[in-house]
Order: sequence, then C-alpha cells, then structure tokens
Amino acid sequence: MTDALNCLMLPGDGIGPEIIESAETVLQSLISIYELPVQISHGVIGLKALAQTGTTMPPDVEQCMRAADMIVLGPLDTMAYVPDEGGINVSAFCRTELGMFANLRPCVSLNSSALKSMDLLIVREASEGFYADRNMYRGLGEMQLTEDVAISVRKITRQQSERIARIAFEAARERRSHVTAVHKANNFRITDGLFLEAVRAVATEFPDVILSDQLVDSMAALLVRQPEVFDVILTTNLFGDILSDLASELSGSLGIGGGLLAGTHQCAAQAQHGSALDIAGTGRANPLSILRSLALMLEWISINRGIDQCKHASIVLETAIRTLVVDRLILTPDLGGTASCQEVTSAILSSLSELRETSE
Ligand code: NAD
Repeated sequence: MTDALNCLMLPGDGIGPEIIESAETVLQSLISIYELPVQISHGVIGLKALAQTGTTMPPDVEQCMRAADMIVLGPLDTMAYVPDEGGINVSAFCRTELGMFANLRPCVSLNSSALKSMDLLIVREASEGFYADRNMYRGLGEMQLTEDVAISVRKITRQQSERIARIAFEAARERRSHVTAVHKANNFRITDGLFLEAVRAVATEFPDVILSDQLVDSMAALLVRQPEVFDVILTTNLFGDILSDLASELSGSLGIGGGLLAGTHQCAAQAQHGSALDIAGTGRANPLSILRSLALMLEWISINRGIDQCKHASIVLETAIRTLVVDRLILTPDLGGTASCQEVTSAILSSLSELRETSE
C-alpha cells in the first residue's frame, strides 16, 4: 500500500477561492473513484492571510508547502502586495525556494470559440530571468537610481537554461518532436545568446527532435498568424509569461489555460491567469483552467511517483473537460456560455461519473 501523498490547497486572492473550491471537489471525486493515494490539506495565503497574520505566506503554511508532495495554488493579487509590508509572492517562493523551475503551459483550441487552431506547449523557465524577486542573491533585481531613473536586471544562467531545455526536448519527444526556442538574441546578445547556446548544446542529446528558433517579437505575430505549426515553444521567464497569455486567449480563453509548476520533487497546479478581480465573487470565473492544471499535476505525479491510478485520473479529467468544451453545453461567459463556476464544476463531476460507468 503506497503512503498517501499530501496535496495542499491554497486558495489565494480574487477568484482563487471559487476555482480552488472547484478543484478540491473534483480532486475529492477522483480520489474516491480511482482510489488515489492522495490526502488533501489546506492553508490560507494571500490577502486573507495578510489581514489575519501580517503576511501573505505565514510560517506554518510555508512549512506545509515544504512538506507537500503537490500544491494546488490559487492566483494571487500580487499587484497589491507590498514586499516590506508582508507581501510575499507565494508563487515566486515555489519557483525559487521549492525548486519548481519549470512552468508548463499547454494551449489547445477545443471549440469554435477559439480564434485560432493550435495544440502547443509553452515550456517557460520560471526561476530566474527578468523577475526582480528571483534574480539576485540578496536584494531585488530592480532599483531606482534617481527619482527619474530606474533599472531592471535580468539573470540568465547556463545551468537553468540547460535544465529547462531538457524538459522541453523530453516533452517534444512525446508530442510532434519539434522545439522552437524563443529569444531576443539580436538585442540581448549576451543573455539570450547564452540561453540559445545552452539550448543548442542540449539539442545534441536529442537528435530525433528538430530545433528551430524565433525572435520573440515575430513569435507574437506568428502565434496570431499560424499557431498550428508550433509544437513545443521553449523560452525564458518573461517571454513565456506573455506568450502563454496570448496563446491561451487565442485558443479560446485565458480561463482554459492550465499550467504546471514542476521541480524535481514537488509540483504545483497553477492556472495561467491571475486573480481576475473584475469578476471575483460574481460566479463568472471559469474553473477549467485550474482543473486542467489539476490534470497536469496528476500526470506529473503518476510519472514521478509511479502511481498508475493518477495517470488514469488525469486522462479522464482532461477528457471530461474537452468533452464539456467541445459540446458547448455548460460554459462560463468567457467561452460564450451563461453557466456559473459551480455549474461547470457540477457538469465535470457528472461527466466523471459517466466516464467511470462507461469504463466499467
Ligand atoms: P488576470 O489574468 O487576473 O485577468 C485578465 C483577464 O482575464 C480579466 O478580464 C479576467 O476577468 C479574465 N480571466 C482571468 N482568469 C479567468 C477565469 N478563470 N475565468 C474567466 N475569466 C478570467 O490578469 P490581471 O487582471 O492583469 O491581474 C490581476 C491580478 O493578478 C494582479 O494583481 C496580477 O499581479 C495578478 N496575477 C497573478 C498571477 C498568479 O498568481 N499566477 C498571474 C497573473 C497575474
């Protein structure tokens, strides 16, 4: 009997509590249908934790995060966080302190609400790059020299570039065997030059995978013009963040963009979108992005912990999501429907039960 794995639910801000409730209900259902060796625990982070404890990531939650096998991480209203006043970015903590350096963001068009047809995977380096809170040993990679002059520093390392490249090439082997490295080496000759050099070195270990490269600005245009030609897009932190929102929205909605943060020992299901304050509390939040992230998390656990039931649960969940979107029956307003977050969750639960019955 496998020891139960711990899955920590962290709702976060804005629409976070609504979509994480959906994720927990669906995970509970999968645990009971497929007898997954997974135990759910809870933590409070974000602005609610700040009001209660003075920090967005209280020390007891930090301990739980370190001990968890997997985390379901809600979006954070990081724009409202003040670093000197308890505003710790929990997502950045996962990427740096917990070692979840890889951010996998699949973008797949499923129905006619998609502006473009695509089936691609963005592999984004998540632990360094232009993000001021994760690119310095001490202090922040952003500073103000005078009242009118501010600068940012970007960190690119050979080690992390090679590490993320391996993830991309391995993923491509399971897909259509093509990696496109996205960069801006015509201007950032040293940093993006180093990134490209590392990617090309790793490519020699994967002779069965084709490598091409593209400047990030033309990549944005090509994503709009012909996204169907891309398979795996490998890029640095900021470029990956921007391109994945573009690709998700073109594939239907940011509300269906699932994501996984992965390290060597732990992973976190984290949707591509933010806290969507404009629709928080209205019931309009689409839970499919976090549910697709949940499917990615279960797949990662099945591979990394050798638990076959998790693979099965992951496939069935993704099938239920795709069926719901393709049939266009019960969808939230971002996908052209009128259903609420709870109604979509109920539809997914019914679909999971039906899929179980048909497989019996
Ligand atoms: P956002 O992703 O929250 O929202 C952009 C647009 O997409 C909004 O119109 C929103 O309503 C819509 N949208 C997003 N998720 C949706 C969903 N599940 N269903 C339906 N519609 C959805 O981006 P923003 O408004 O620029 O940022 C809001 C806050 O989130 C900011 O504080 C930002 O810093 C933060 N943020 C956090 C994360 C994260 O925690 N991973 C990521 C991005 C932004």
